[in-house]
Amino acid sequence: MKNRKTHALGLISGGLDSGLAAALLMKQGIEVTGVNFNTGFCTLDHRRQMGKGSKDKLENPALKVEKKHLFPVELVDIRAEFLKMAANPRYGYGKNANPCIDCRIMMLIRAKEMMDEVGADFIFTGEVLGQRPMSQMRNTLELIERHSGLEGYLLRPLSAKLLPPTIPEEKGLVDRSELLGFQGRTRKPQIALATELGIEDYPSPAGGCCFLTDPGYAKKFFDLLEHRDKRNIDLQDFTLLKVGRHLRVKDDLKVIVGRDQQENNFLQRYSPRFTTLEVVDAPGPVALMEGTDIMENRRIAAAITARYSDAPKDRIAKVRVFNNSGESVVEVMPVGSDKTNEWLIK
Ligand code: SF4
Repeated sequence: MKNRKTHALGLISGGLDSGLAAALLMKQGIEVTGVNFNTGFCTLDHRRQMGKGSKDKLENPALKVEKKHLFPVELVDIRAEFLKMAANPRYGYGKNANPCIDCRIMMLIRAKEMMDEVGADFIFTGEVLGQRPMSQMRNTLELIERHSGLEGYLLRPLSAKLLPPTIPEEKGLVDRSELLGFQGRTRKPQIALATELGIEDYPSPAGGCCFLTDPGYAKKFFDLLEHRDKRNIDLQDFTLLKVGRHLRVKDDLKVIVGRDQQENNFLQRYSPRFTTLEVVDAPGPVALMEGTDIMENRRIAAAITARYSDAPKDRIAKVRVFNNSGESVVEVMPVGSDKTNEWLIK
C-alpha cells in the first residue's frame, strides 16, 4: 500500500511568516491545508467594506497565499465567539486592545477541531520566538500550546530548532534538520528566506491586519467597554468604532461624526439604531448620538454636528435630529474647537 503523505494544517494570516512556514513544509513534500480566521477586526476587511483602496490591495492576503503557494485555504468565521472573548480576555490585553494570547488559543482550538476533517497530522503556525512581546515569548508559546490542547502537535517551523521537538518531528514525519531557528524582532532572515524561495509580493512583514493593535482604535474600544453593559455590546458596536470621530462628552453621551462622504454613508446605515443629526442649511457630516436621548444631550450633539459642518461658526445653526419616533429641528450655536478637542477620544 502506498504511504500516505504527511499532512499539515496551518494558521494562515496572509502575512509573510505563515506563508514561509507553509513553503518550508511543502519543500519537504508535506501536504498543506491552510485556515484563515475572520475575527471581525481585520483592517483590510473593513477597507473593503468601505470601498477604500484598489481591488488587488484589498484581496484577502490569505487567499493570495493560497494562489501563490497552491494549497487550499479555508476561511472560517469566528466573529461571534471572538467578540465575547475580546470583551473579557482571560489573559488580558497587549499594548493596545489586542488579546493575542486568548486569540491564538481560540484559533488553535478551532484548528484542532478541523484536524480530523482535513486529515492533518499536526498544526503549524508562522510564529517566531520573541517576535511579538505578548504572544510569542517562550513562556506564552508554551502556554498557548498547552491551553489549545495541542501539546506536541503544534509546530512552528520558523523557530522549531529553538523549541522542543514536536511529536511529528520525533516520528520522522517532519525533518527537523530542514526547519529553522529564527528568533527576535528582526525581519531580515524572513526576507532573505522569501528571496531564496522565490516568494515576492508579500504584504508588509509587520502584518498588522488587526484593529485591536491600533492605539486610536484601542482608546475607543476601552471607552465603549467602560460606558456600556458588556452583555449588550455586539459586533455592530465594534464596527462603528472603526468609523468617524468619536467624542465622549459625558457618561451618557457619545457623539460619532463622519469625516468624509464614505463615512457619512456608512453612519447613515446606523440611523435606525441611533438618533441621527445633520445640519439643515449647509453641507456637513452625518452624526450619531449614543446615550440618553434627552433634550440637553440633543443640543450638545447638534452643536458638535454644526461645528464640523460648513455652517458659519458665529451664528446659530439649524440641525435636523431624527430617529424612529420622529424628527425635529434644533437651533444651536456650534460648539468651539476647545470643547471638541477635550471630548475627542484620541
Ligand atoms: S493581533 Fe489581533 S488577530 Fe493577531 S493575535 Fe493579536 S488579537 Fe489575534
